[in-house]
Amino acid sequence: MTPAAAIKAPTGAEQTDEQATEQAVGQTSEHLTEQAVEPVGGQAEQGAEHVSAQAAERGAAQVSGFDAEKGTLGGEQKGVWEQVALALFIGIPFLALVAAVPIAWGGFLGWHDVVLGVVFYTISGHGISIGFHRYFTHKSFKPNRPMKYALAIAGSLAIEGPVVRWVADHRKHHKFSDRDGDPHSPWKYGTSLKALTKGFLHAHIGWLFDSEQTPARQYAPDLLKDRDVVRVSKLFPALVLFSLLAPAIIGGLWSWSIEGALTAFFWASLVRIALLHHVTWSINSICHTIGARPFKSRDKSGNVWWLAILSQGESWHNLHHSDPTCARHGVLRGQLDTSARCIWLFERWGWVSDVRWPVKERLEARRVRAADV
Ligand SMILES: [Zn+2]
Ligand SMILES: [Zn+2]
Repeated sequence: MTPAAAIKAPTGAEQTDEQATEQAVGQTSEHLTEQAVEPVGGQAEQGAEHVSAQAAERGAAQVSGFDAEKGTLGGEQKGVWEQVALALFIGIPFLALVAAVPIAWGGFLGWHDVVLGVVFYTISGHGISIGFHRYFTHKSFKPNRPMKYALAIAGSLAIEGPVVRWVADHRKHHKFSDRDGDPHSPWKYGTSLKALTKGFLHAHIGWLFDSEQTPARQYAPDLLKDRDVVRVSKLFPALVLFSLLAPAIIGGLWSWSIEGALTAFFWASLVRIALLHHVTWSINSICHTIGARPFKSRDKSGNVWWLAILSQGESWHNLHHSDPTCARHGVLRGQLDTSARCIWLFERWGWVSDVRWPVKERLEARRVRAADV
């Protein structure tokens, strides 16, 4: 039995369902951190990583031979020009948006729009992070049926594609993270400034235009078998309409004016969706380029603190790749993770169960130590 299956060994009648899910999820999350699965790529490097990942699983005492640079890719330095290019790509569009706020304030932007924008951002953003990502992709907990529906619907409101497609893409990302086959790696074209700039844009947004789709039958068979999930997936076009129009309708009724509907549509629908898209894509681009790497993972995933609030805790991405099924990503002191906090509340209220909270020994085994560097 694999380590992941051993931890989650089910009992009784649930076993069949559990095992089916385990096959789909485990294959694409934990196991893949520990197995050399790539059909292509540097075989010598693969071997080294395979050994490294297994050593990490066995615990700190046996990690002495670990090759930190290949195993975590955490010890590399980034050139000044790379940093400057990154800052420009990230900073300028965001500053333009921020600059628009005071210009519009009191005219084309008011408190109603801010409240609606924050509420819809919070619901759709957590639908992605708690629902699409931590539950549907990685099965970090078990929701009851109404909760499962709520998570699938809330995530769909982010307009990042139907749940089944989102999950298939993300599982493939974990399977090949930063290697050939990863749908969105910033390292796809190489490590020079030019290659990284091209790769960064590809990881951020370009990959969405790839005509080749991740086969759902291969990567999300558990979801295709779940009628509830398929139902919500089919409702996606209607949910897109709802996500676009609900803020406008509420804004119009709230201010009892056409202008109120228009401003709410602009800020709480269009700007809110654009911002959430960029934050989600930033996990693929920024969090696979820069950030702290306190945990061992075989890719270039990093923890980026300044994205933590906007990304609902998803930017603690290095821990996530190191321990993919863990329900909490911000596991270290002071690492804000609102998604984990919500899951904790849902568990207290009895809406979710079997939450895979961080296990101290597992985290310890995955920590990068001074001896590894
Ligand atoms: Zn990732
Ligand atoms: Zn993930």
